[in-house]
Amino acid sequence: MLPDGDRVARVETETPSADGPAAVVRACQETVAAARADAPSEVVSAVAGVGISSPGPLDPYAGIVLEPPNLGPEFRDIPLAAALADSTGLPAFLDRDTNVAALGEHAFGAARDGADFIYLTVSTGVGGAIVAGGRVFHGPDGLAGELGHVQVALDGPRCGCGGEAHVEAFAGGASLAREARALVIAGASPFLTERARALGEAEELSAKDVAEGALAGDPACVELMDRARRALAAACVGYVHAFNPHRIVIGGSIAEGEGERLLEPIRAAIARDAFAVFARRVRVVPAGLGGDVSLAGCHPLVLSRLEGEPATTRSATSMPSTAPAVPAGASPGGTSR
Ligand SMILES: [Zn+2]
Repeated sequence: MLPDGDRVARVETETPSADGPAAVVRACQETVAAARADAPSEVVSAVAGVGISSPGPLDPYAGIVLEPPNLGPEFRDIPLAAALADSTGLPAFLDRDTNVAALGEHAFGAARDGADFIYLTVSTGVGGAIVAGGRVFHGPDGLAGELGHVQVALDGPRCGCGGEAHVEAFAGGASLAREARALVIAGASPFLTERARALGEAEELSAKDVAEGALAGDPACVELMDRARRALAAACVGYVHAFNPHRIVIGGSIAEGEGERLLEPIRAAIARDAFAVFARRVRVVPAGLGGDVSLAGCHPLVLSRLEGEPATTRSATSMPSTAPAVPAGASPGGTSR
């Protein structure tokens, strides 16, 4: 990738989660090697580092992926940054996919001219990142920014993480799909019952079906989507008070599908429930970069870590101090390049 965000090579492969951690690491190494082989020679010789966007939880300081829920039970404490540093001979840097996405939106997307913003992704789960003063806020263990696991009610559905009434439990795609199946079993939604019949079984129902049911006027679907919007809006009011962002950038498949139906209630809640003088400064905007946002974010990730922030991996201490800035990227569990 070039400093203006232009991509010179892109290689994509399936994540072989079922074959174990070694296979996933090998796939990352091979796709980075393949992308390097595809790039023009003057770019290859100028590559300064490797950025890695991975599902969390992870340790961004040590470059270790801890125990992501979707990469198989064996995928524990994998030193992915060191593995890619070894295979490429370059410094390699790891961060959570949502933090990398926020860096991408900051460098090239909807947060380009803002230093203080919240990034939120609403898709299968609800993920987030906090950018303060132009830097991702990680916290001492790298947990900060897990904005989907903020409680928005005293009682509510169980979250995928095990917690109760987290915003993800109301608004995440997996949660909405689970609620959809419950509605079919309870016979409480004619739209979803009909949709499940068309799909073959209720297990196939997704958040998209709930959203379409709401648009079609199915009362149970309307209620579910309304609850999801209110949960996100309440969470965003909390983020405004906790982090003083000037912008809340919202991406992810559900946010893209819902558009203003999702953003407008968030703006209204902030105007109504946040400290007025500060609330007026907050803009709630759609993400600008779409599905490849983490790949775009690997560029600023490498640049910021080469500049010594927040902490460098072991391999980075030996990197040449005058290395030109043309990072490569990798992303297990998503697209790889
Ligand atoms: Zn949770």
